[in-house]
Amino acid sequence: MKRRQFLKISSALFASAAAPGLSWENSPVLAAPEERVVPSICELCFWRCGIQAQVKEGRVAQITGHPKHPLSNGKLCPRGVGGTGLLYDPDRLRQPLIREEVDGKQQFRPATWDEALDLIAERLGYLTAFYGTESVAMFNHGFGASFFKTLFKAYGIHTFSAPSYAQCRGPRQEAFKLTYGHGLGSPEALDVAHSKCLVLLGTHLGENMHNTAVQDFTEAVARGCHLIVVDPRFSTAAGKAREWLPIKPGTDLALLLSWIRTLIEEELYDRDFVEVNTVGLEEVRAAVAHATPEWAAAQTGIRAERILATARDLGRYRNEALVHPGRRVVWYGDDTQRERAIAILNALLGNYRHPGGLLRFSGFSVPSVKFPEEKNAFASFSSRFPLASAPPANELVEQTVSGDPYPIKAWFVYGTNLIHALGDQARTLQAIEALDLLVAIDVLPMEITGYADVVLPECTYLERYDDLDTRSYRTPYVALRQPVVKPMYDSLPGHEIARRLAGKLGMPDLFPDDMEAYLDGRLQQVGLSLQQLQVEGVVSQPEPEDLYRQPAEPLRFRTPSGKIELASAQLAQAGFDAVPRYTPPPAAPPGYFRLLHGRAPMHTFGRTANNRMLGELMPENELWVNAVTGKDVGLKSGEYVYLVNQDGVRSRTPIKVRLTERIRPEAVYMAHGFGHTDPRLKFAAGKGASDADLITHLSLDPIMGGTGMNNNFVTFTRSAES
Ligand code: SF4
Repeated sequence: MKRRQFLKISSALFASAAAPGLSWENSPVLAAPEERVVPSICELCFWRCGIQAQVKEGRVAQITGHPKHPLSNGKLCPRGVGGTGLLYDPDRLRQPLIREEVDGKQQFRPATWDEALDLIAERLGYLTAFYGTESVAMFNHGFGASFFKTLFKAYGIHTFSAPSYAQCRGPRQEAFKLTYGHGLGSPEALDVAHSKCLVLLGTHLGENMHNTAVQDFTEAVARGCHLIVVDPRFSTAAGKAREWLPIKPGTDLALLLSWIRTLIEEELYDRDFVEVNTVGLEEVRAAVAHATPEWAAAQTGIRAERILATARDLGRYRNEALVHPGRRVVWYGDDTQRERAIAILNALLGNYRHPGGLLRFSGFSVPSVKFPEEKNAFASFSSRFPLASAPPANELVEQTVSGDPYPIKAWFVYGTNLIHALGDQARTLQAIEALDLLVAIDVLPMEITGYADVVLPECTYLERYDDLDTRSYRTPYVALRQPVVKPMYDSLPGHEIARRLAGKLGMPDLFPDDMEAYLDGRLQQVGLSLQQLQVEGVVSQPEPEDLYRQPAEPLRFRTPSGKIELASAQLAQAGFDAVPRYTPPPAAPPGYFRLLHGRAPMHTFGRTANNRMLGELMPENELWVNAVTGKDVGLKSGEYVYLVNQDGVRSRTPIKVRLTERIRPEAVYMAHGFGHTDPRLKFAAGKGASDADLITHLSLDPIMGGTGMNNNFVTFTRSAES
């Protein structure tokens, strides 16, 4: 028998009565009249828009955008409006669960919080005494993880990995750091609204529904922005574009290098800016000399005249043009270098802190409370990827399997369904099998919770405080997430779970007993109060006067040279190409199609697939197949097929075929986040298919360990047999 069998949670475990929740009866918000509007922050995705929740007779009746929050401007995306679908999801985790074995059979049993946390504390104590604190890793996604990180740092645990790094935007982060000395942040500091020429490469804004990013995009389009969309698929954004370049998948870097070459050779770049603020132009010129439009046309499948014309468009708009760096950018394994090419292009255009270009945001300064950190803690995870600034999640998986260079024996998994997020599921399951302790903290019974030893039910973002959000989107702001209604069932806010666990780990005074006093204390330091934020939800500062640079303003970048590094000495020193070099992607085996995946506007990947409100808008994903090639292989629109990948791995569930002219013939496309198989997700289970089932090959980015997932190929079968 497997050491850790996947466990379903029986419906009997959902039958417990609602627990009393925290003693928040005196909260001015929760004690307010029966009908009220409570400002807070959305967490249906990580963008953290300001919301206003209308509460009637103790239930959240409606959620709308906060008019004064810079990320909302009074609007929400469809998911944000559907937040009550999460709050009132009947499948929510309702009480702590402990894995136990009875008569040789593993099962979950309901537990009290004390029992569950005592067990975790006891096993952590044993594991860290035996293997050291480095044997514990935390995987986290979302704002609510902050107090767990504080707790673990105080205990000497420093290995934190967010799948949003190696599985999403890490290559962008490192590429811009290498080039400009800083990343783009999140939300990314881009002046899309004022761009006069915008290039989107595989970035499907409009389907990728980050509220303010889409608002800015809409504004740019309304202003008549010259939009160039590079995508193998005719996306929603492509439908708004002046130019759609239906690129052969995996060849984007060839196009970018050719654009760089044209800008340099035809002297279309911003000479004044480049001369003063960059280094490495001649190295770049030499490295891209081969990248003629004809050469790029042969790679990309886009006609040379169109490559040349779009390069000239960029040069014509120059510093009012922006090549969007994208967000989920782990595609083919050359992702940091592709993002470097985007960074170089933007530098040549001279759009740094220019209207319509790259910006720099600095957040609202509210001093943090200093928590103690274990001085003798294992300093940090040592990555075999020299320029990784955070542990890539898959590297922790590998290390958990191998125990090399030291064993990892316990995982804390907060708000991320690693089974669907990481790719190479078999390897993830192998790592899980090697663990002595797996704790999952979540709102819903996502697949990862079925492998946990202890499941801790967190309440939703509508039932809890989190720490203050002090970021900036053009204007610095401080915003409050606060409970709109009391926690349902026996769920707890993350900060309360962390506080109780701290007590069990011998640190009873680590966190303040009273979260409201903690938040008020922070706010008082800058002349604000919790009471003010409870009423207003957000306080913003004026837009900084130096958002845009002045002509001839001296700039200094945090790179070794102090300039924008077009050719990267840091990369060269680490043994990589100083200027990006193109390598063609692997070809599909005969009869197979490259599997591409992306987002749907009404879902945040698997996190919302069980949300009945959003599920009404889109209950399942579809497989886009080119109409001509689809018919050639006998597919019909509307029929369901299973997918089989290049390694013979089959999708667990079938997917509905959509034959369309809107995709290149060598690729197929699906929205990520469907195909849940866990019956505990009663609405989502069995709807659509999961690309994660089929991503068995990861193309690792040698620079920072990003997991390129687009070098997987599928064919179709109607057979339900494996
Ligand atoms: Fe919520 Fe949508 Fe904003 Fe994400 S973009 S935080 S889901 S409203």
